Amino acid sequence: MERTVQFSEGHQIFRESFRKFLMKEIGDRYPQWEAAGIVPREIWKKFGDNGYLLPWAPEKYGGAGADWLYSVIIIEELARFGANGVFVPLHNDIVAPYIYTYGSEEQRKRWLPGCITGDTILALAMTEPEAGSDLASIRTTAKRDGDAWVLNGQKTFISNGHLSDLVIVAARTGGSDAPPHHAMSLFVVERGAPGFTRGELIKKIGLKAQDTAELFFDDCRVPADNLLGPEGQGFIFLMQKLQQERLVCVLASQAAAEKCLEITIDYVKERKLFGRPLSKFQNTQFLLAELASQVTAGRCFVDELINNHAAGKDVTTETCMAKYWICETAIKVADRCLQLYGGYGYCTEYPISRFFIDGRIQTIYAGTSEVMKLIVARSMGL
Ligand SMILES: Cc1cc2nc3c(=O)[nH]c(=O)nc-3n(C[C@H](O)[C@H](O)[C@H](O)COP(=O)(O)OP(=O)(O)OC[C@H]3O[C@@H](n4cnc5c(N)ncnc54)[C@H](O)[C@@H]3O)c2cc1C
Repeated sequence: MERTVQFSEGHQIFRESFRKFLMKEIGDRYPQWEAAGIVPREIWKKFGDNGYLLPWAPEKYGGAGADWLYSVIIIEELARFGANGVFVPLHNDIVAPYIYTYGSEEQRKRWLPGCITGDTILALAMTEPEAGSDLASIRTTAKRDGDAWVLNGQKTFISNGHLSDLVIVAARTGGSDAPPHHAMSLFVVERGAPGFTRGELIKKIGLKAQDTAELFFDDCRVPADNLLGPEGQGFIFLMQKLQQERLVCVLASQAAAEKCLEITIDYVKERKLFGRPLSKFQNTQFLLAELASQVTAGRCFVDELINNHAAGKDVTTETCMAKYWICETAIKVADRCLQLYGGYGYCTEYPISRFFIDGRIQTIYAGTSEVMKLIVARSMGL
């Protein structure tokens, strides 16, 4: 079926160029980055040099002023390539939009150009050891002291935790009596801020090339100018940006599921056992037919969401449905496809193994499947 997203010829050319870029600049180097637990900074610069960072940013900050479909292409192609630890989508479409939407003109001019060239890498620090799904219960505090804010607390599981030069940190600015939704503010903490340190890389089962770390704020002084938007609006800002954050996960999961199916169809045609191709066994055919049906249904849903989101519509509930269902489906597709590879599917040499292990996170971060179901149930008046 043809996609219902209207990609122009310009988009198609961009997709082709980006595919070639990934082949050339990442190619077969990715396993080395997995072993290191981090991707090299130079790859970020290359993304920047080629216009793949914040393509949507207006020209006055150094961007291309492109529409959101260019971001969609970058997310989809990175996922299809399997370079899941290159956390450019987090930088482009999750963190930078906070600076663009809620930052003052002075803050935008100060920070966005470096984000576009790749000199400045972004992270978003919400989660704490005692506050993941229950974001309102964070304990990190920020107190005003003259011309600075003083942050104290700890964050965990922060993506781009070591690479990041700017971290948007959610901290409590209201007292314990403040209503939870007005007790939080967002601060931009810069690399080298006094009292800001980073922990060791967290060892994970997947996304091995992505530097996930704990961050510590110990009387960390941040200039008053680094408050993002008005004091007390942090929680509301985070909620407002969740639709796009979750869509990023949905787009990546859908693209990964499609790629899994493609490579598995190729594999079962090649692999011979009991004197015939694996593709000729009825189990293989039924299984792949089932998975293809689900992936195709997913594509219709996802494209509808892309169109609605690009048109500026509120699809919060539908995005939660997709975050739950598309991400769970992608995990199932990778698992069932891996089964068709037999022992080879368990070997890291075969890309299917990376789709299986890296995809597992998608139902956990940016709101777990359970939290998604809670939101959907609430929208049904339950
Ligand atoms: C690789 C990785 C990268 C990450 N990157 C970032 C990042 O860049 N920035 C950031 O801030 N965070 C990041 N996170 C954190 C991530 O968003 C949290 O792990 C996630 O929100 C879940 O929180 P938690 O781990 O504390 O689990 P918990 O909140 O403790 O959840 C445990 C279980 O309880 C379930 N649960 C929760 N609430 C309910 C409920 N009301 N009813 C029923 N069940 C419920 C959950 O679904 C889950 O199954 C990352 C995590 C990982 C693993």
